[in-house]
Amino acid sequence: MGIITNDRGSSSALTIDILPILRWQNSKTRNQLKRDKERLPDEKICDHLTKMLDTRKNALDVNDWNFDVFAFNRLTNGRALFHISLHLFYEYNLIEIFKLDIVKLMRFISLVEEGYHSSNPYHNAVHAADVTQAMHCYLRERKLDKALSPLEKMTAIVSAITHDLDHPGVNQAFLIATSNHLATLYNNCSVLENHHWRSALGLLHESGVFEHFDRSLWKTMEWQLKSLILATDISKQNGFLDQFKVHVKENTLNMDDPKHRNFILQIALKCADVCNPGRPWTTSKRWSELVCDEFFKQGDRERQMRLPVTQCCDRLTTSIEKMQIGFMNFVVMPLFTEWHRFHLSSLSETILLNIESNQKNWQEILLDPKMQTTKPEPNSFTSKSEE
Ligand SMILES: [Zn+2]
Repeated sequence: MGIITNDRGSSSALTIDILPILRWQNSKTRNQLKRDKERLPDEKICDHLTKMLDTRKNALDVNDWNFDVFAFNRLTNGRALFHISLHLFYEYNLIEIFKLDIVKLMRFISLVEEGYHSSNPYHNAVHAADVTQAMHCYLRERKLDKALSPLEKMTAIVSAITHDLDHPGVNQAFLIATSNHLATLYNNCSVLENHHWRSALGLLHESGVFEHFDRSLWKTMEWQLKSLILATDISKQNGFLDQFKVHVKENTLNMDDPKHRNFILQIALKCADVCNPGRPWTTSKRWSELVCDEFFKQGDRERQMRLPVTQCCDRLTTSIEKMQIGFMNFVVMPLFTEWHRFHLSSLSETILLNIESNQKNWQEILLDPKMQTTKPEPNSFTSKSEE
């Protein structure tokens, strides 16, 4: 991952410097530990620390699946999405290929970052950064890297960055039950996903980042972006999975066909969106707690508004462990099983192994009441509505 400088402005080069610096900091910590190991007499403690650091190896390398987006977000002062996104535009040489104006690009990414609600425990800019980093890992897979055009890679990155833009922190059922204007606008159909892609389109226009594209290039990109973001609607999961299963089984995915490449990018974005259970345990567990926190906040609002409390959003009756095991069994594992059959790569295998091991951890916690995750207190009954 080199630093690509740009003669249109030094600020971009300064911004992009951050990833190699973070990598260097990581290696510095490792060297420090090696020196400490020589000084400290207790080998056991040192071995434990070394093991601990090894599990966090590459935690700040954006090319690595063990990337720790929470740590990176802290180190970038809450701007993980901005730095990762801008870095990837350089990494894939998109600024050069599409003659992008760096100021407009930075404005676009900043607007996207601001478009996420930091008050959402889960659907915020850190989740978007996580999904974008996962998409980057998938784009590096041999089958995709070889076949995709620069435009398809750029659309994949833009779709990951924007896929939950302006998420209100509640689900579609809540928006319909509360007669939210978005539900009316999109006729109660893929309400959130339609809103995310419309919002993304609005910011693309507002920033003018692609305004120099000719009509056909713009239309192609717009169509791809829409199809990718709309594919993240979880209610469409089975349709996509069945189609993917048939393609993989019969080996009918032809990567020379633009429609097939678009389909695999839809699957890639879906895999990036639900990849939390495939990350290392500490990161994965943290995401589970955050998503439950957001669900429970919705349940609190439903209770306060005297609406029926959505089953998975009721903090008084929901078990985080059972919810995670169910999510892994019915959504994540079937999808990543096919993803692995398609790629047969070390990354797809690692993800499957992580899912299995994380599922085992949740089962162990479920069987041992002492280890069970403490449910957050229902302290948000009076939280203000965001709509
Ligand atoms: Zn998402």
